Amino acid sequence: MSALWLPCTQMQHLADHPPLAIVRAQGSTLYDAEGNGYLDMISSWWVNLHGHCHPTINAKISEQLATLEHTLLAGVVHPPIVELAERLVAMTPAPLQKVFFADSGSAAIEVALKMALQFCQQQGQTAKTKFIALEHGYHGETLGSLSVTDVALFRAQYQPLVIEQLTTPSPANLFAPPDIAQSEYEAQCLAHLKTTLAAEHTRICALIVEPLVQGAAGMAMYSLDFLAAAVACCRHYGVLVIFDEIAVGFGRTGTMFVCQALQARDATLCPDFLCLSKGLTAGYLPMSCVLTTQAIYDGFYDVRLERGFLHSHSFTGNPLAATAALASLDIFAQDDVLTRNQALIARMAQGLQALARQYPDRVALTRQTGMIAAFSLMTDKQNTDAQAARALARYCLQHGVLIRPIGAQVYLMPPYSTTLAELDTVFGVLLDALAALDISHLPPMDTVHLA
Ligand SMILES: *Cc1c(COP(=O)(O)O)cnc(C)c1O
Repeated sequence: MSALWLPCTQMQHLADHPPLAIVRAQGSTLYDAEGNGYLDMISSWWVNLHGHCHPTINAKISEQLATLEHTLLAGVVHPPIVELAERLVAMTPAPLQKVFFADSGSAAIEVALKMALQFCQQQGQTAKTKFIALEHGYHGETLGSLSVTDVALFRAQYQPLVIEQLTTPSPANLFAPPDIAQSEYEAQCLAHLKTTLAAEHTRICALIVEPLVQGAAGMAMYSLDFLAAAVACCRHYGVLVIFDEIAVGFGRTGTMFVCQALQARDATLCPDFLCLSKGLTAGYLPMSCVLTTQAIYDGFYDVRLERGFLHSHSFTGNPLAATAALASLDIFAQDDVLTRNQALIARMAQGLQALARQYPDRVALTRQTGMIAAFSLMTDKQNTDAQAARALARYCLQHGVLIRPIGAQVYLMPPYSTTLAELDTVFGVLLDALAALDISHLPPMDTVHLA
């Protein structure tokens, strides 16, 4: 253990509280060496979809492992990656026709940024060198993706390395002033975006957004109305649109992808780039991809090598990861997962209501988009309480529930394998934890939980 340096962790904070040591997992539960179970209510950092060690996915990966473990994806292809690309194109909006693979969410963002920029350059729009992103947005932590990420904690130290981009106010409820209706606040944010695009569109290559839910900001949510209006505005000004559905894709918001919900509302609206990762392999193996349009693809199709998109990663298109992704898509279809999730979504809504009803001074801004439910933990009516959130997480862990608040924002993002009974257990533990917070003063958790 002493050789390990963990991500997103101040190692000093682990001196007194060692990390949770997990040896196996099944369904929605992680187990330690003593056999204690922990309900994984954050889907192992938002990646797990159908539960841990799912028999179908395990079997398919084993089969693939005995057949072809890995080969490069340049000048060479293999059945799982061909099938996966075809199925992704078939299940996403019609304008998205091509799939480019990478190996992490951040890498997918790098791909989308580079593709958008190179496309504009090759179209002769050489002044379009800037990106515009929402304030409080998170798109990853590699240098390119960090340049469109607006979370100071992850970015401030690296400022000299980060290329400055443009931002526009986030329409999310979490950032709205207290005395204003959400729709009014979104209208103000939209007006701001319109003004910026009107003034700067000749130098803006693309808008990048986390559709509907800004995850790392603390599950900050906004409406499809804003998203549709923002995309329409970009269309009007000739600015490309990148949807980062790395966290919200594969059913998290209730529909498979937010870009589908957008199309259902207005068939003329579609992003030019769709970035997917986290749920892509159901949380099994690292893989990401960027879907894009025929028009973007055609912008690179040329006899000259350097006009191609030459970005690459050694493990691009790994057959084991592609097989896990295919098995996950099979499970969605066979088990009618999105329909089944409706019961979980309704139960989470009830659970949130119960928390707010019983602890009106502690629980504020309850919010939910599909399978993502969150609330702000308060000291009193005005102030959020990050320390209490850490204590709450500690209490939950001691009672078999793994959560990981972001500051004072407490959220649940359970695997779809979670049962209604398990959800009831989780909300029961949360109620007890809130009661414990008020009665005694729980010792604060020394581990800083960030995202
Ligand atoms: C997690 C995440 C990323 C980065 O993905 P990694 O695989 O961690 O590099 C990018 N965008 C969003 C919205 C994310 O949630």
